[in-house]
Amino acid sequence: MSADAAASDSSRSGETVPSGQPMTAACVEARHLIRGRWIGAERTARRWNPARGDELVSVAPVGDRNIVDEAVAAARASAPVWASMSGEARGAVLARTAGALRARASEAATLIAREEGKTLAEASGEVGRAAAMLEFYASLGRQPLGSTLPSADGSMHLYTTREPVGVVGLVTPWNFPIAIPVWKAAPALVAGNTVVVKPASIVPGSMHLLAECFEEAGLPAGVLNVVHGSGGEAGQALVEHPEVDAISFTGSGAVGRRINITAAERMARVQLELGGKNGMLVMPDADMELAADLCARGAFGLTGQACTATSRVVVMEGDEQRFLDALVARTMQIRIGDPLDPDTTMGPVVTEQQLRTDVSWIERALADGAELVSGGVASGAFLTPTILRRVEPEHAIAREEVFGPVLAVMVARSPEEAMRIMNGTEYGLSAGIVTNDLAAAMEFSRTIDAGVIKVNRLTTGTDVNAPFGGMRASSNGLFREQGFSATDFFTRVKTTYVGF
Ligand code: NAP
Ligand code: MG
Repeated sequence: MSADAAASDSSRSGETVPSGQPMTAACVEARHLIRGRWIGAERTARRWNPARGDELVSVAPVGDRNIVDEAVAAARASAPVWASMSGEARGAVLARTAGALRARASEAATLIAREEGKTLAEASGEVGRAAAMLEFYASLGRQPLGSTLPSADGSMHLYTTREPVGVVGLVTPWNFPIAIPVWKAAPALVAGNTVVVKPASIVPGSMHLLAECFEEAGLPAGVLNVVHGSGGEAGQALVEHPEVDAISFTGSGAVGRRINITAAERMARVQLELGGKNGMLVMPDADMELAADLCARGAFGLTGQACTATSRVVVMEGDEQRFLDALVARTMQIRIGDPLDPDTTMGPVVTEQQLRTDVSWIERALADGAELVSGGVASGAFLTPTILRRVEPEHAIAREEVFGPVLAVMVARSPEEAMRIMNGTEYGLSAGIVTNDLAAAMEFSRTIDAGVIKVNRLTTGTDVNAPFGGMRASSNGLFREQGFSATDFFTRVKTTYVGF
């Protein structure tokens, strides 16, 4: 049975592991977390290891509208007490959660590798980043919020405070199953909100482990609630719920747009971080080894399943062959295999359905006139790192998000054309340039319509204390995530005039 079919097939509840297949590692029995209680259900969904197919990784309850109601009621009931605690006390819970996660780092990384399919090294990186994020937001509990303002009235104390928004719904994708819930929940919680998380339905085990860390840290009951289930049912119910004051969503553009409309109808605050088609511009002066390394790691690291993955490259006319030679040589070093094998540097595609989508994008690119340089071979759950050349800016492969290990290489005849190609998609998440020409780098930073600009670095990867988010179709653009900016979304400003 395919991992994808298994993940979406809830009718097989109660089924045992296929006979004759030894279970090589424990299966996580995920539960909803509501008001501090772990809750199961008759209806369950199963997730199999994408690299092994027949290894059951997690089983999770499939939540419906009623369970979402319960979770939201729990979050609402616990909101006043949590909001009235000091920022320092809330931060202390986050710091302890970081400690609990660090203590289980190896277990968490192994689980992510088995459930989502990134390599063990990549999964360890994700866990470390999630812990660092918790520590950063823990420290925010002691930072100033709000300001004191001079007043036109000399006998006035005029100041602003930032209050929690209330109950926040967090809807998250599968590609960073621990880090993304953390980068939403941590700033929400330290600001005094209570939350209901609806994680992606194919990675419930990872969210369960994270929820256990919050519990272990002594988070009061009802402050963080988790509802497993499908986006169409549990996710939608959460987004539509009149008692949910704000929604923070990361995922695809199609789902994001729907959520935006639903939230607007009931005037709920909404944060949307969506897809990307991130480009790398290789300038004529670039160190080609560096350019090749950044493009190979940016495109094929995390199996290309990062919102900030490099998915297109622009090189100047005359540099293409030199660049491709270096890129192919670097890509040959990638070792595809089981994420738990320490020699593996690229894991499987997350589901068979996603693999079929990736392959169909490659086929479409070839039909449009692109040429396969290397890769393009699908076997089981794996797709070899795919490099396409002779891609034209108007081709779908140059503009649409694939979300897999596929890199489109384009050629520009002038720096102006290069900039036009770089800005030639509806997305604007992250963009990179390889150059030692400071003026070119600064011009790039000023001209490119993307939320994250990288000079001589990967398009993926960001610091925990820096704002993160996209422009244009990559975001609804109202609020940034991460860093201090996250506080803007998770708080409301109140202005108080005290005459004396
Ligand atoms: P997705 O299909 O949009 O799903 C994201 C989440 O929304 C999942 O929890 C999903 O549940 C839920 N959902 C689906 N339909 C819903 C509905 N009608 N109402 C409410 N919730 C609903 O995205 P994905 O496939 O998990 O992730 C890949 C996408 O995420 C890519 O486009 C990628 O670029 C984007 N991404 C963006 C960022 C960023 O920061 N900009 C970061 C990572 C990923 P199910 O799991 O049950 O479908
Ligand atoms: Mg999806």
